[in-house]
Amino acid sequence: MLNKKIKKLLIGTNNKGKLIEIKSLLPKHLKILSTLKFKLKSPRENGKTFQENSLIKSRYFSKKTKLICLADDSGLEIDILDKRPGIYSARWGGKQSNFNKAIKKVFRELDKKDKNWKKKKVVARFVCALSISYLDKKIACVVGKVEGRISKKSRGTNGFGYDPIFIPNKKKKTFGEMKPSQKYKIDHRYKAFKKIKKFL
Ligand code: IMP
Repeated sequence: MLNKKIKKLLIGTNNKGKLIEIKSLLPKHLKILSTLKFKLKSPRENGKTFQENSLIKSRYFSKKTKLICLADDSGLEIDILDKRPGIYSARWGGKQSNFNKAIKKVFRELDKKDKNWKKKKVVARFVCALSISYLDKKIACVVGKVEGRISKKSRGTNGFGYDPIFIPNKKKKTFGEMKPSQKYKIDHRYKAFKKIKKFL
């Protein structure tokens, strides 16, 4: 079964927005199923890396449904914060996933680290790990990254999460100021999907 082309794929996320975005990035011949339909709770993400967490999710959902499953894990790494928030990116927004709260925490942590951070280039990147599992077996695990810097203040209302404070290299606008069509072509998720397509 693993040597054949995959025809049916379960997407291991209970986040509707993510599901829509993932669907748009996958080859159209695939029949896509969602974990929402199976009413499965997400597993505890206790890995140490984006790759480990995406594998925890794809294995867990595959074992529960006996289907081949694709799952992701993503976040923002800021170098002078020792790569935080990293795998804790979603958790910095609290239980309600409040992105304003998460952005305020980034600014607070940067102030704590270096009062003059606004005068410097604060190097950061978005990372997306994608994995495909069938039961306990890993079929693929890839990583996509987009390098950039942290903006001095929050700008733009497009996108989600840390988009208003991230400026990709060679651009002046934050992801939050870009049209979604502009962001999707250069972001970490797009790069990771390009890499994983050869397994599908
Ligand atoms: P996940 O759902 O565990 O992968 O958490 C990802 C978290 O990282 C999100 O809740 C966002 O805070 C952040 N994140 C990941 N990708 C992006 C992006 O493209 N823009 C802004 N924030 C992102």
